[in-house]
Amino acid sequence: EEINANSLKGLVIRSTGSWYDVRDEEAQIWRCRLRGKFKFQDLKVTNPVAVGDRVFWEIEDESLQTGIINDIEPRANYIARKSVQKSAHSHLLAANVDQAIIVATLTFPRTSLGFIDRLLVVAESFRIPSAIIFNKQDLFDEETKEYQDYLINLYRGLGYTCFTTSSVTGEGVESFRELLSGKISVLSGHSGVGKSTLVNAIAPHLNLRTNEVSTFANKGVHTTTFAEMFELAPSTFIIDSPGIKELGLSEIEEEEISHYFPEMRDLLNECRFNNCLHIDEPKCAVKDAVEAGTIAMSRYESYLSMVGGQDNRK
Ligand code: GDP
Ligand code: ZN
Repeated sequence: EEINANSLKGLVIRSTGSWYDVRDEEAQIWRCRLRGKFKFQDLKVTNPVAVGDRVFWEIEDESLQTGIINDIEPRANYIARKSVQKSAHSHLLAANVDQAIIVATLTFPRTSLGFIDRLLVVAESFRIPSAIIFNKQDLFDEETKEYQDYLINLYRGLGYTCFTTSSVTGEGVESFRELLSGKISVLSGHSGVGKSTLVNAIAPHLNLRTNEVSTFANKGVHTTTFAEMFELAPSTFIIDSPGIKELGLSEIEEEEISHYFPEMRDLLNECRFNNCLHIDEPKCAVKDAVEAGTIAMSRYESYLSMVGGQDNRK
């Protein structure tokens, strides 16, 4: 199909379902609707365009700053959940997410490893790279820092970016800025770990209030605001999509979960049973690796908490 000669490129930064705010290459915002004969991509979705989509669009009315979306670029990835209205369909929450950033802290309030591991699994299931930030360094004693060093080694070994920050001393704030720079990120972590404070440190113009950033895969109070992206710096965005908060493991098949543990992924062919859940089956390569110490016990415990019954998987 031919692309209209007037076609412009843009990024969807806000989606309400009936209209979309598209940011053009000069950072101007245009309120757009979809072309009547808009071609859905090969995906059963209730909403064909999501926050983060890169679109081809044209101006409808220059003075009103309105436009029409003609097409979308292929997505690098997307976050979706099952549609509430149409069971065979998905509802898109965000597209082209470069990374999930987990903000954790070992005190006030302590983030559990189970929580971190669940977020990592959800992000892996959507093929989104993750980073873990250990915040509130100014509060830790030596013993806590030693334990933290162990965790940083563990998660770096699995391929996740890890570093330490403190909004009080400024430690790691430049690394945080660099991590986000030029990317679309989803920020996650319990309320009170310091997400808003960190974002304000690198983007004071946003002036976020406490708890204003929606968290990723973290159950929270349902709000009915629109899915949108904040621009922290040129081409640097964090996504705030209300549905992302409520994503959990329920969309992931039990048999799939070990695929989202990088240290288990390569062992799966070696289990005797190809549907091995690595719980109590004989000749299980995952359990052997746990016994040999090449898979951390904490990771295996997190894994066990995610399989074995729907109750564990919420
Ligand atoms: P959010 O809910 O994750 O957005 O957390 P906030 O940014 O609202 O921070 C929660 C509380 O932790 C606030 O009282 C902050 O002042 C405090 N806080 C944030 N970062 C740090 C830090 O690095 N060190 C210390 N000691 N307190 C922090
Ligand atoms: Zn196994």
